[in-house]
Amino acid sequence: MRVPGIAPVLDHAETHPGYLPRPGIDRLQMAAGAAEDIRRHKHENPADNIHDQLVDALVGHVRSLVADPARQAEDPAWTPPQRIVWRSAAEHRGQLPLAPERKLAVIADRSVHATVKAFAYVNAGRWVVSCPFPGCNSAQMASFTDRRYFCCDCANAAVGGAWVEVVWPENHTDVENWVASRPFDVRHWVPGETAEDIAAQDAEALGRGFAGGPAQAGESVATRVARERQASPRSGRKAKV
Ligand SMILES: [Zn+2]
Repeated sequence: MRVPGIAPVLDHAETHPGYLPRPGIDRLQMAAGAAEDIRRHKHENPADNIHDQLVDALVGHVRSLVADPARQAEDPAWTPPQRIVWRSAAEHRGQLPLAPERKLAVIADRSVHATVKAFAYVNAGRWVVSCPFPGCNSAQMASFTDRRYFCCDCANAAVGGAWVEVVWPENHTDVENWVASRPFDVRHWVPGETAEDIAAQDAEALGRGFAGGPAQAGESVATRVARERQASPRSGRKAKV
């Protein structure tokens, strides 16, 4: 699902290490490694008879590894939200991992729920999306190219496990510019906030008296906010993603 447009500058699912492709598990190589272990053992321990039972057990172990759907390599074509489903999806408030077969079914599902939507927003210098379902406080990095959300904690159970659409602001580059003078940790924006809102927040922060002391001549907002953070480490909400 490729969406035209200028990619965000702030961190998002396409740039976050936890969401990037990983090299797959080569199960044939894994089996070859097990066979090589047996050969080396026999070579290095000629007096140590390897019983057929042990070999059978090893072969059976390798077979189970190869047959285990959970060890299937990630498809390079998967998008970040699909990868996160494969790596982390669970249900019942994150208590039970989704079965590999269920994860693959979710990944294969390209549809979105008809009405429920989630919204991308800026939190601590990152584009994130929170779970839209009541009682679930989960969140993920927002994907710019695959604008869908499947919760890794509640498995979107409230809508029968359907993906929901993630709405990005049309002016995401403007939003990034509005908060660009702030240190990353205090770059926040929620849908509906305007340039004037952000400017008013900056002015309020400058005017309310900083823990870091009075403003200094020529000091930028970013420098001042950073100084405040040093003096008072509490810098606002940060979503857990
Ligand atoms: Zn959820």
